[in-house]
Amino acid sequence: MKPLSTITVASDLPDALAPLRDLALNLRWTWRRQAADLFRSLDPAVFAASGENPIAMLPQVSAGRLAEAARDESFLARMRAEVGDLRTYLDSGRWFQRTAAGAQGSDGGASIAYFSMEFGITPTLPIYSGGLGILAGDHLKSASDLGVPLTAVGLLYQWGYFSQSLDRSGWQQEEYRLNDPAELPVEPVLDGAGEQLTVSVSLPGGREVAIAVWTAQVGRVPLLLLDTNVGSNDEQARQITDRLYGGDHEHRIVQEIVLGIGGVRAVEAYSALVGAPAPTVFHLNEGHAGFSGLERVGRRMQSGAGFSEAVAEVRAGTVFTTHTPVPAGIDRFDASQLRSYLDADGSGLSHLIPSLPVEAALALGIEEGGDVFNMAQLGFRIAQRSNGVAKLHGAVSRAMFQDLYPGFDVPEVPIGSVTNGVHRRTWISAPMDDLYKKALGDVDISSLTDWSALSTLTDHELTETRDGLRADLVAMARRHVKDSWLRRGADEAELAWTDHILDPNALTIGFARRVSTYKRLTLMLSDPERLKRILLDPERPVQIVVAGKSHPADRPGKEFLQQLVQFADDHGVRHRIAFLPDYDIRMASVLIAGSDVWLNNPIRPEEASGTSGMKAVLNGSLTFSVSDGWWDEMKDDEAGWTIPTAQVEDQARRDAIEADALYEILEQSIVPLFHERDARGMQHGWMTKVRSSLVKVAPRITAARMVRDYVTDLYLPAARAASAFVADPALAGEFTAWKAEVQEAWSQVAVREVILEGVQEGTVAAGSELTLVADVELGPLRDTDVLVEAVLGEIGAEDEIIEPQLIPLRRGEDGRWAARFALSAPGRVGCTVRVTPQHPVLASRAELGLVTTA
Ligand SMILES: *Cc1c(COP(=O)(O)O)cnc(C)c1O
Repeated sequence: MKPLSTITVASDLPDALAPLRDLALNLRWTWRRQAADLFRSLDPAVFAASGENPIAMLPQVSAGRLAEAARDESFLARMRAEVGDLRTYLDSGRWFQRTAAGAQGSDGGASIAYFSMEFGITPTLPIYSGGLGILAGDHLKSASDLGVPLTAVGLLYQWGYFSQSLDRSGWQQEEYRLNDPAELPVEPVLDGAGEQLTVSVSLPGGREVAIAVWTAQVGRVPLLLLDTNVGSNDEQARQITDRLYGGDHEHRIVQEIVLGIGGVRAVEAYSALVGAPAPTVFHLNEGHAGFSGLERVGRRMQSGAGFSEAVAEVRAGTVFTTHTPVPAGIDRFDASQLRSYLDADGSGLSHLIPSLPVEAALALGIEEGGDVFNMAQLGFRIAQRSNGVAKLHGAVSRAMFQDLYPGFDVPEVPIGSVTNGVHRRTWISAPMDDLYKKALGDVDISSLTDWSALSTLTDHELTETRDGLRADLVAMARRHVKDSWLRRGADEAELAWTDHILDPNALTIGFARRVSTYKRLTLMLSDPERLKRILLDPERPVQIVVAGKSHPADRPGKEFLQQLVQFADDHGVRHRIAFLPDYDIRMASVLIAGSDVWLNNPIRPEEASGTSGMKAVLNGSLTFSVSDGWWDEMKDDEAGWTIPTAQVEDQARRDAIEADALYEILEQSIVPLFHERDARGMQHGWMTKVRSSLVKVAPRITAARMVRDYVTDLYLPAARAASAFVADPALAGEFTAWKAEVQEAWSQVAVREVILEGVQEGTVAAGSELTLVADVELGPLRDTDVLVEAVLGEIGAEDEIIEPQLIPLRRGEDGRWAARFALSAPGRVGCTVRVTPQHPVLASRAELGLVTTA
């Protein structure tokens, strides 16, 4: 019989247990083991069935069990302890208050709005697809731990990112699940009248789209989530926030309008509502929220600023982080399509962002040629400070965007880097965490940088812990492989073999990440017979566990995945290699922690950072990677293995050479070391490497380190730069007038003559002093408008000065510019003189793209 309708019967939480709901609504429980254990102990079965989601779980616990817990003094005591701990966590001063902003008052004038298209915080808030989102989630958690005053802005998707399964042939199947706000750890933001806060944006055709604002509380950090699935919107508008990275360009533009423009409106309304200072620094995590800059420019113009003044002011307080070193990874839109959204009536003044002159705004992002609008270019133009996510990625980005700073060599392109990190409390497994506590003491290590005490962990302790983690992984893999085969149409009766796959004592290699072609999931299959020999060695068994989703539209990615699945389906190896469908945060924790070796073999330098390997390091798993992303700057033979990059153009040959190196290192180094036992039966050599990795690498890859770097290198300087404009309302006008004057006069700037005194026949004794004198023509400009510098350095292959040293010249009595210096290192040194504009508002010499060289 079919029911006429369905109703949900929810248990009421007894008053004594009311604090559980508050605990559940602050996502800090996700990185506090005791709090997670508290929810679990209320009803382990219901907790597991809810997907470890306390919000969904509480209404499902039986009234009897709730009444029992409400009388259970020990349960109540644990609950009160958690409530107290959370309160202390939220109220006590932290690193930011103690250190970062100490000199500048309690908040250093900084209050940061952090925009991202995705946030990976907990599997129970499925609004992420992969690394970018998880990085954003870890950023919020560490900002919270460190007390950084940050408010985040993202989208609340009606459908989570897809869940993955396989068909019989190993082809990826996608299924989307509806996100029910009642089961998500979010609450509506209520306005003064007790209604849900909404903001709006107007689309062409006079369509006003209402955006409801929700909040998820991540420790101290509020995450505002924007949702267009609102009753007053038409069907099309309700679908704007339907799903992450779905739909066409049109859809993406509208999503980004909601995130960027709606986001600024939401964060301002929210700040006013809760009485918090409006944000002074806007951090764009990837280019998706670039329109936020245009909205802020429009707002300045509504208060009377001109376009250039507004841009100067907005730039000062904006930080842009780029995440991809491949041009195809950048959001690019048809310029005319975007124009139709910004300027629906063709009047030249935007209807979407009042007062914004559309063509001037579009010019910030339009590529040469005029047809394509590039969100990364907008990011660099609207943010005075920008960065890549590892040192190598910073360098690659400088080369990639050099054209935006004509006249400057790659090293001077003003894109820095802050190397990614991972949130330790989220990614460390419980048994490893216990070892850390034992070695380092039970201290808040988010600001502890010396982890050398981890070297005191014994072989025995590490072996016991690592064996346990590997066993957990094997158990999980068996469950997932069996489930997967049931979904692929196998009968339970033919799946007994899945209970015995993998070996809790074999060397376990993990590989899990999004399946994009550049990550080369199938590199390990280059020589299938050789791989089989490695896996099937009876004396020294090796096994591989693989996971990862491919973007639904990425056909080559799905083909890679199918190849791997088909290999793993082979009866001869299926007990040694397993593919686990539906990779997510929860699977990642077990898979990464339980792997002895974490393999990463992208095409260098296409992996901007990669963070899964950092999670592995924290857990005592060893790195086996191409020299790319974060490993390029931290690689260390005592802490892992590096696959050399083949210096050949042809991709197929390069793959073959690098695959060969991969096998070779496995066969010659990794496998023997893992299976080597000392007289006591211990893996002493292996654990020595684990200790090195923990001591030397782990402290450098935490999100705490990353967020501290953002605060010191980017947020506080941006806050200072932005506050200069607030303190001096005339500054924007002055700067803009100065800039126009400098641009106008620049053609008259020239370096006439350069003389090096103290050089004899082109040679000089090391260490002796030289004087450099230059005649510089400035036209109408004043000395203070420019920086005149000697540029010195070694000569490179193309006759250019590499890694130049800059020495300022000063104007002497005789009107000429001069500097004295000594050259100490022997060798051929190149020297020239150059002039660049100088103004307190400028953060880099290359910013105006003006330079004159001798
Ligand atoms: C860490 C993580 C990623 C990112 O991994 P990369 O190494 O950066 O590719 C992707 N998905 C999940 C579920 C993760 O936990």
